[in-house]
Amino acid sequence: MTQIAIIGPGAVGSTIAKDLQEKYNNVHLLGRSNKQLNYHSYETPDQTSTLQVTAINDFSKVVDILIIAVKIPQLQNVLSQINHLIGSHTTIILAQNGYGQLGHIKHPNVYQAVVYISGQKQENHITHFQDHTLIMDNNSRTQQLFEIAQNTKLSIELTDQIEEKIWYKLLVNSGINTITALTQQPVKVMEKPNMKQLCNQLLNEGISIAKAEGIVLEPSTVSDIMDIYESYPPEMGTSMYYDMLAQRPTEIDGIQGFLYQCARKHQLHTPILDTVYTLLLAQQPEE
Ligand code: NAP
Repeated sequence: MTQIAIIGPGAVGSTIAKDLQEKYNNVHLLGRSNKQLNYHSYETPDQTSTLQVTAINDFSKVVDILIIAVKIPQLQNVLSQINHLIGSHTTIILAQNGYGQLGHIKHPNVYQAVVYISGQKQENHITHFQDHTLIMDNNSRTQQLFEIAQNTKLSIELTDQIEEKIWYKLLVNSGINTITALTQQPVKVMEKPNMKQLCNQLLNEGISIAKAEGIVLEPSTVSDIMDIYESYPPEMGTSMYYDMLAQRPTEIDGIQGFLYQCARKHQLHTPILDTVYTLLLAQQPEE
């Protein structure tokens, strides 16, 4: 029987585990320590399920599929602890926002998943808001997870255009995460004077970086993303906003930092990105 482990008992990892555990009992949710989590959907707060988390170090099986769903600043620490879970046959899926982290995982079968699962972790409580989708490259290994996820809530979408999908999500995150984190205000800050214009300019710089990297996005990408922001509830925060408020390290290395490095590589003129990246970097907590 295929053994599956998910590392990261947060909003994304818990949702993946819960969706698969409803059909399979060989799906293990791993974290820093042994504990139980409460999990519920936003629409049904009185219907709480319990999820069991096993400490990575207490779990001794080599798994067939390992899904890593931690935030970017947490990845290196996780990678230093997983050798005992991985064999040459293991498929590793990185379910994370941003770009550029895949190269840190020294294994032949590593794939990025573009995450469309929305939720929030507060201590030992997970609230799932919406979506259950991971988008991945279409190949024989990811097809295995696609098959496993059939008839579960988890939706695996396989694509021949994974680079475009990753970049699209990267740009979605780059705009709203930046604005909410820097202003330390939720999405309604977009209603403030000139904020949409600033966000639009930032997204357009992102488009020029994607183009320089050979990524072809639809001409309507910027307006599509601005429409997505319009659809967000005004009181919604972003993960970078919450991380900034809590003075935790944010995911800027894989989002604004990645874009900034690409822009330098191609010697592009990106004044808005350069400014916001510098301001965000200055607000990272000291290590
Ligand atoms: P999260 O709720 O903060 O969960 C991360 C989990 O990883 C936490 O439970 C944390 O454990 C665990 N972790 C950290 N270091 C660990 C370690 N060394 N060993 C084991 N477990 C460790 O994060 P998330 O929201 O699920 O985000 C995961 C990724 O998905 C991020 O890249 C995020 O940007 C992306 N994403 C999130 C959403 C969303 O709505 N949440 C949407 C799309 C994409 P502790 O509980 O002990 O701290």
